[in-house]
Amino acid sequence: MGAGTGPWTEPGAFPVAPGVHRIPLPLPNDGLHAVNVYAVESAGGLVLIDSGWALQEARDLLESSLGSIGFGFEDISRFLITHMHRDHYTLAVELRRLFGARIALGVGEQPNFDAVRAGSGDAQLAEIARWGATDLVEKLRGLYTRDNADQARATYELPDDWIPGSQDIEVGDRTLRAVPTPGHTRGHVVFADPAASLLFSGDHVLPHITPSIGFEPARAELPLGAYLDSLRLMRTLPDMRLLPAHGPVTDSVHTRVDELLLHHEERLAATEAVVREGAATAFEAASRLTWTRRGRAFDELDTFNRTLAVGETAAHLDVLVVRGELKSSIVDGVVEYVPLPGDQNR
Ligand SMILES: [Zn+2]
Repeated sequence: MGAGTGPWTEPGAFPVAPGVHRIPLPLPNDGLHAVNVYAVESAGGLVLIDSGWALQEARDLLESSLGSIGFGFEDISRFLITHMHRDHYTLAVELRRLFGARIALGVGEQPNFDAVRAGSGDAQLAEIARWGATDLVEKLRGLYTRDNADQARATYELPDDWIPGSQDIEVGDRTLRAVPTPGHTRGHVVFADPAASLLFSGDHVLPHITPSIGFEPARAELPLGAYLDSLRLMRTLPDMRLLPAHGPVTDSVHTRVDELLLHHEERLAATEAVVREGAATAFEAASRLTWTRRGRAFDELDTFNRTLAVGETAAHLDVLVVRGELKSSIVDGVVEYVPLPGDQNR
């Protein structure tokens, strides 16, 4: 197997540290290109950090990639999952049915499981309506009704273990520290191996993109506030190599955390500026901002990414309210924002 000098999405099992292999798996056309699963060898069996999306293509590639380093599905003793998104969680559920490995996930994801297993896409649609995005609600309604409660309960079978908070997890002679990092989702955790200087960061810290914030069935109260706190928390740990779920392995968690903190301060300033220019709702503010690293216009995004963009904007607006820059009120079921007077001169 090659050392991984090609693009990070190139299939295979690539060594990133002694006993640790990065295995990129495909996703259905959602713009992220691939998801990294990390296989950690131990005397007690193979531990997988994240599992991939339950797709035949991903499952086949995981099987052949594990095969290339001398393992099979039956060697997997445990899945440690960073968060509940499909590309991280769902293949673990499918493989557990066949091979019986245990699945662990942060206890903070429980409200998301309750919501998704109840088939209550309506709550998420109601939230999007509050952002003033009426046409997105109409477009999304079809998507949600297709995922009925029975399917959701099969896709989102419960984990065996809820990780209760910061917790040391023994993996052979390695100790992984699970650290709750709410923000991307409310129950996101990262797994740190300070002795080997490795951080399995899930979607919390990504090298090339900024993770979506609070895109989940039971959205937290102030997801960006939580996310920024979780980024600062990474600064209190020793610097480690970054092993992300999307993108290549890089040398420094701290360097990327600093970039992400700066990015969100810039986004907060830009978001506040469009409200001062007259945007009243999250939808209106999102329409006036530019998106992705390439600075695309909102109208160029597809429905899914427009939804993420509006949710992202709402998350920034709510932090600006907490910081005392803006005031919010609910008008006909939609949250409206106005600048607080006198604060341009600060
Ligand atoms: Zn995610």
